[in-house]
Amino acid sequence: MKIAIYGKGGIGKSTISANLSAALAVSGKKVLQIGCDPKHDSTRLLLGGKRIVTALDYMKATPVALQRLDQVLHVGYGGIVCVEAGGPEPGVGCAGRGILSTFAMFDRLGLDMASFDVVLYDVLGDVVCGGFAVPLRRGFADRVYVVTSEEFMSIYAANNILKGVKNFDEGGHRLAGLILNSRGRKEDRRPVESFARNVNLPVKQVVPRSERFRRAEMLEKTLVEAFPDSLEAMIFHGLALDVLGNKTFYPARFLDEDSLDRLILHDKSPLSGDPGGDGEMPGGL
Ligand code: ATP
Ligand code: MG
Repeated sequence: MKIAIYGKGGIGKSTISANLSAALAVSGKKVLQIGCDPKHDSTRLLLGGKRIVTALDYMKATPVALQRLDQVLHVGYGGIVCVEAGGPEPGVGCAGRGILSTFAMFDRLGLDMASFDVVLYDVLGDVVCGGFAVPLRRGFADRVYVVTSEEFMSIYAANNILKGVKNFDEGGHRLAGLILNSRGRKEDRRPVESFARNVNLPVKQVVPRSERFRRAEMLEKTLVEAFPDSLEAMIFHGLALDVLGNKTFYPARFLDEDSLDRLILHDKSPLSGDPGGDGEMPGGL
């Protein structure tokens, strides 16, 4: 299976991706994690803090005839194979290019994607950027999770992401659910729950705000590795089980801005009941 993790910048995509990969690896799955962010920090915690050369930089520096897969693929915790696609400096060029070139190189060098049980893409959150769409095109990703917190800007970004996903939904439904990376208390969850209901997408897991993430980061490990018996690690094992067992996918629906404002700022469901999406009900593939 090929999973893409989307969400607003800084919302916890890389943390969740790395911990989910770690939990999948613990359950015996062969995992490839592809960092699709020019910041190239997606796989750091799986590699003990090691900074690896990005596929794009490697390609720039190495003539095609001399390129080797083992120079860009690095094996980390639990045998997880890690790669950072890389990308341009901020403000210059298109982040989609890094991912496309990385795939072209993988093809050329004969990487067998099908040999992995799970390929996980940690995606750039910015919808207007070309990097957004690449994992959705050409069937690179067959299932999408959107990370959000309870905060307005994060739900707003999630709604935009659903809008973006809808543009690429023609190959079938690929949304598997929301992951709530909680910033607050249980009482603050109402806006996310209302949003989930209104876009017809389930919250698949709630990751609590926890100091252990920072402590694990200081050890340059995922929390799943650093604190394997913690509640938070169990939450990722639960998420991994859910991901592996999931058979239900949802059409992308989104709310128009007024409905979203009403829903989040005033905690009211859209009065019109008229989501901007296609209005279909959830259904399996
Ligand atoms: P970017 O869009 O910049 O790539 P991101 O979405 O990948 O960001 P992360 O880098 O995973 O976000 O997380 C940002 C910071 O928030 C990290 O320092 C991480 O440890 C912290 N963090 C993420 N989730 C939690 C949580 N549930 N509790 C506490 N800290 C968290
Ligand atoms: Mg990240």
